[in-house]
Amino acid sequence: MVLLGQIRGQDRAVAQLRSAIETDRVAHAYLFCGPSRSGKHTTGLALAAALNCHTAPGQGCGTCPACSKIAAGIHPDVQTLERQGAARSIPVDTIRRQVIARMGTAPHEGKARVFLIEEAAALLGTAANALLKTLEEPPARTHFVLATTSPDQLLPTIRSRCQRINFAALSPELQLELAGQADDGDTVERVRALADGLWRAAFAGDFDSIRQAASEAAAARDDVDAILETLALRLHGEARNAAIGDRLTEASLRSHQTQVVLDTQSAVSQQAHGLLAVEAMLHTLRTTLP
Ligand SMILES: [Zn+2]
Repeated sequence: MVLLGQIRGQDRAVAQLRSAIETDRVAHAYLFCGPSRSGKHTTGLALAAALNCHTAPGQGCGTCPACSKIAAGIHPDVQTLERQGAARSIPVDTIRRQVIARMGTAPHEGKARVFLIEEAAALLGTAANALLKTLEEPPARTHFVLATTSPDQLLPTIRSRCQRINFAALSPELQLELAGQADDGDTVERVRALADGLWRAAFAGDFDSIRQAASEAAAARDDVDAILETLALRLHGEARNAAIGDRLTEASLRSHQTQVVLDTQSAVSQQAHGLLAVEAMLHTLRTTLP
C-alpha cells in the first residue's frame, strides 16, 4: 500500500495531515478537494493506516495486521462508502447501515474509525442530510474523509463541517506512472484497448466505429474515467511531440482535442450520463479533424 510518506506530488496536503497527526489534532471530517486521479482516495487510505498502524503509529508501515487489512479493504474500522446504481449515488440506506448504526460503539479493533467517501457529490438529498447529523456530532476516534472534484456542488452545511485540504493536479507524466503502478495488468490492458479503439475511430473519422467504441467504453462504466484519462494523456503526448517537432498547427489541434477529452472526463465525474458524454465528446473531436 502507499503510505503517507510515499504520496507523490501532494507535498502540501500531506504536510497538513502529518502536522495534524503530530499535534494530535486530526480533524473529525476532512474534505479532500482536487481533480480526479490526484491521489485523494490513496491519501485517505494512507491517513487511515497512519492512525491505525501498530508498528509505526502516525506513519503507517504497510505490513502490520492493521495496515495489511486496510490495504486489502477488509479492516472493520476503515470503510469506503460505495456508489451504487446507474445514478452512481450513495444511498441513504448505506449511510444508515454502515455509518449511523455503528456510531454508538467503539472501533472494533483499530485505534480510529475512518469512513472514506470517494465522491461526496454522490451524496444526494436524504443521504447528505443523514450524514450531516453525524458530521455535526461525531463520536471520539471517528474520522470522515470526503473527497470531491467539485466542492461547489456540495451542501454548504457539509462543506462547513469539514476541514478542507486541496490536492494539486498531477502532471500527465506522473499520472501515467502512478496508474501503471497501481492498477492490475488486466484493467490497464482493457482500458488501453478501449482507448485505442476510440483513438483510431476518432482519427479515422469513422462514425460507425466511433459509436461502437463509445458503447463499449460506456458499457464498462467504471472504466470511462480511466479510458478518457488514457486518451487525454496520448493526445497530450502527441501535442508535445508536435510542438517539439515545430509542427505548430498539429500541436494546437492536439492540445484542443486534449481539452475536449478532459472536459468530458470532468462531465462524467460529475455524474453526467457516461455514454452521452462520450458521444458528445467524439462528435466534438470529429469537428476538429481536418
Ligand atoms: Zn502498520
